[in-house]
Amino acid sequence: MDNIKLAGLLFPEVNETPEDMEKRFPPRDLKEGAIVSRMAPSPTGFVHLGNLVQGITSERLSHQSGGVLFLRVEDTDRKREVKGAVQILIDALRHYGINFDEGASESGDIGIYGPYYQSRRAEIYHVYAKKLVEEGKAYPCFCTEEELEAMRAEQEKEGANFGYFGKWAKWRDRPIEDIEEMLGKGVPWVLRFRSTGSIENKFKFTDLIKGEVEVTENEIDHVLLKSDGIPTYHFAHAVDDHLMRTTHVVRGDEWLPSLPFHLQLFRALGFKLPKYCHIGPLMKMDGNSKRKLSKRKDPELALTYYRAEGFPEESVYEYILTILNSNYEDWRRINPDADTDEFKFSYKKMNPAGSLFDAAKLRDVSKNVISRMTAERVYDLAAEWAKEYDEEFYSLLTADKERSVAIFSIGRGGNKPRKDYAVWSELKEYMGFFFDEYFKVTEAPDEKYEKSLISHIIEDYSQIYSADDEQDEWFEKIKKLGEKYGFAAKTKDYKANPEAYAGSVADVSGFIRLAVTGKSSSPDMYQVMKILGKEKVTERLIAYAKNL
Ligand code: GLU
Repeated sequence: MDNIKLAGLLFPEVNETPEDMEKRFPPRDLKEGAIVSRMAPSPTGFVHLGNLVQGITSERLSHQSGGVLFLRVEDTDRKREVKGAVQILIDALRHYGINFDEGASESGDIGIYGPYYQSRRAEIYHVYAKKLVEEGKAYPCFCTEEELEAMRAEQEKEGANFGYFGKWAKWRDRPIEDIEEMLGKGVPWVLRFRSTGSIENKFKFTDLIKGEVEVTENEIDHVLLKSDGIPTYHFAHAVDDHLMRTTHVVRGDEWLPSLPFHLQLFRALGFKLPKYCHIGPLMKMDGNSKRKLSKRKDPELALTYYRAEGFPEESVYEYILTILNSNYEDWRRINPDADTDEFKFSYKKMNPAGSLFDAAKLRDVSKNVISRMTAERVYDLAAEWAKEYDEEFYSLLTADKERSVAIFSIGRGGNKPRKDYAVWSELKEYMGFFFDEYFKVTEAPDEKYEKSLISHIIEDYSQIYSADDEQDEWFEKIKKLGEKYGFAAKTKDYKANPEAYAGSVADVSGFIRLAVTGKSSSPDMYQVMKILGKEKVTERLIAYAKNL
């Protein structure tokens, strides 16, 4: 076969060579050890936790090493493409602090290795397609859909493996005259890879996360270019990762089965192999067994879920680091206030089998993260969330910023900050009583106390409460009030001799809490009452005493 002639027939328009490409996309001038990594999503519009996991891993590895992170849009499958999907992805990742140095962006391509949309790189792929044909490593195939279906049916009947290979590969060794004839008739063709592998052969391969894995050679003559000249993902990504000078391919391990083919391609093209980091899946417990998070069954797979629930992005980010690197939690314990970027992220600490996603753990992490924020930041983030998801709450929250910040300041700071809420959507429940619009007595007092007794105590208290009292004085008053009604001023005394008292000062405080907040638990009552102000407190006390 005259491969040079064949290449000329198939790609008459290609004048450039791989050498020209090498010149156009020169090696990057980076310091030794700098990692160049990428995100290479298909623009489907669905951004999920897996994208974030991949994004965080590649972002950390590249930026931590002084390297580059770029965004390449893998839009070779036009059928799956959703309008605006690239922007959705960029926004979602930016929300979590993942910023690209290079690649597709809202203001067009950034960087000299573009275009960064595969659909705009056809002529580049064709240079390499031509080279493969010249070297006898690829050939055109004119099989129709019907022929391929018939082949499949035949394979099924024979119990043979599926796919275009070996004796099934009708066009693999056809004389050039046959090809010329078809081309002359304008019959559409695809370009296929001439595989030299065999499934009888297994080989070992080292993945940076998975360690040594044994894989089987690929024997299928996969399609490289579709009949419209657009490459398949496999071919395009090999050319791109080489020319964009990717050093580390970080991606989900669902790509592992394609790896033997990818390795063949890199070798056939004469490219140096990148390092591979195949990330295990995210799993969750379902009953007693683990299973992969699924788009269909698990709404928490979508990143939009976290935004709508009101998880601060720091919380989700921190949680992902916790499940990705086994030593992260210990590091955080020792460095409670350090920036997450100070943590030395390592692929060596990643679990090859994947990570277990635990919603309860995420909430715990989030409570911790929020407890470390300043009250101003809580206010800003909560308001940002409410603006989008709860307009009414937003107007109340922002009507008096200073007051809201004061509310968020209760129990903040110090060694043991309060950890009341994990998401902004819980705030209304937590602090709603500060607003008359949400205030409602939702709990009843302990039945062992006569309602009339409680009513008297509260009525009495409404007369003596003063917003000017210092905390000690304020508490003294409650103790004295309790004593008047037979309640021990010290819980300790009550516990030692319960028969001698009606209850303890804690019970009296509980009555006041119910009257003022409508609930049996709340943040520090002294602060709560100060923020509510004398008038509001008295009004609620009187109303409670009257309606009990
Ligand atoms: N376009 C592929 C995807 O959607 C990228 C795989 C890779 O990173 O090589 O996941």
